[in-house]
Amino acid sequence: MLQKNSRAFGRREKYDEFILRLVGITKRNYVNYENDHQDIRDGVRKLCLEFGSEYWRNCDRDRAYPTDFVTELTRSGYLGALIPQKYGGFELQISAAAAILEEIHRSGGNAAACHAQMYTMGTVLRHGSDEQKSRYLPGIADGSLRLQAFGVTEPASGTDTTSLRTTATRKDDKYIVNGQKIWTSRAEHSDLMLLLCRTTPVDQVKKRSQGLSVLLIDMREIPQSQLTIRPVRTMMNHSTTEVFFENMVVPVNSLIGEEGNGFKYILSGMNAERILIAAECIGDAKWFIEKAVKYANERVVFGRPIGQNQGIQFPIAKTYADVRAAELMLKEAARRYDIGENPGEEANLAKMLAADASCAAAEVCLQTHGGFGFAEEFDVERKFREAKLYQVAPISTNLILSYLAEHVLDMPRSY
Ligand SMILES: Cc1cc2nc3c(=O)[nH]c(=O)nc-3n(C[C@H](O)[C@H](O)[C@H](O)COP(=O)(O)OP(=O)(O)OC[C@H]3O[C@@H](n4cnc5c(N)ncnc54)[C@H](O)[C@@H]3O)c2cc1C
Repeated sequence: MLQKNSRAFGRREKYDEFILRLVGITKRNYVNYENDHQDIRDGVRKLCLEFGSEYWRNCDRDRAYPTDFVTELTRSGYLGALIPQKYGGFELQISAAAAILEEIHRSGGNAAACHAQMYTMGTVLRHGSDEQKSRYLPGIADGSLRLQAFGVTEPASGTDTTSLRTTATRKDDKYIVNGQKIWTSRAEHSDLMLLLCRTTPVDQVKKRSQGLSVLLIDMREIPQSQLTIRPVRTMMNHSTTEVFFENMVVPVNSLIGEEGNGFKYILSGMNAERILIAAECIGDAKWFIEKAVKYANERVVFGRPIGQNQGIQFPIAKTYADVRAAELMLKEAARRYDIGENPGEEANLAKMLAADASCAAAEVCLQTHGGFGFAEEFDVERKFREAKLYQVAPISTNLILSYLAEHVLDMPRSY
């Protein structure tokens, strides 16, 4: 349980020993990274021990939502980490939130089922009215209200967000919403949805980024005939959906901030999202490395551990170097974010480097395991599938490179 101002889990060494014994990793195979927020990390690891490989494997096999895990994480307070104390949260720094997500992934779990509960509320916090904050944030902090659906991507527009086609038309004290979203993850496990839609037709604005607005939709109040949510089955267990709005009526007080400024509000949340996803990728990469090292040291072929061969140990050592480098960039992005700067460059770099490092580590881990890497019970193939996503979402590697080229290196816009 996360406790305000407490050093929750006693002496470090004893705890490490306990964890090592439980997870069956020998001291030799356990990489002791220098870490910040150690108390929080220990607490998350302890919680994750209750949800071992079999739990995640079963969820994956059935494409089931990890309800028990999310309930426990919510109960422990971790998902309210970033919410100010006056609204019932823990008001922690982004580096602490990153530590929570990293440890979930490092333990072999997957925070994608609930990570959005941590950061989607940022748009309400930064741009919502006092009335909206008081109405929603306490419930989000204690988990009685789930805000984990974020409807931006559409089938026709893709990455080109400002050409999205979902409209919200004002009629008296209501908006009438029509359109379609794709990849709206967790919509079936959320009470609220943050929706980006067009409120002024594109031919009536100077720039396409204008005339877009953010609505906070209370899906519990919408009749089924106006809102259809259909699951989209993907290569990993992600609870993602497509969503259809048919003359959906929402009260005008669902509008966050000013009408027409929604694109800016969505952009303002991107740094936090990139940093937190990077942390998940770092956690995955560490899991792959530890798993690969353990197997390489134990598997004997031709009368010696396969890890004795440089052909096996060098790729693992290389991914370890990649992870440590990506981790430094993540720390720098989080540090700058926590002191109130706008670390667009660092957040993008961290996300790209961490996603690349976790994919490389996934590849190496699979290769190290040979045939067993493909067996479900080793968990490598599941984590491999899960790690792939972060090459594309929430932003693809190409678009990060475009950002760096244009906004950091001052080269011409390519699209
Ligand atoms: C499992 C999953 C969960 C998701 N969850 C959410 C969610 O909760 N909410 C949400 O709104 N979205 C979500 N997304 C959407 C995700 O953010 C998008 O898939 C991602 O931004 C890429 O958009 P796209 O799929 O439309 O690809 P496209 O925009 O069609 O691009 C296809 C490919 O072309 C490349 N490309 C496009 N334009 C350029 C260019 N100018 N230069 C170079 N390369 C280019 C891209 O990098 C990409 O590799 C999710 C996606 C997935 C797969």
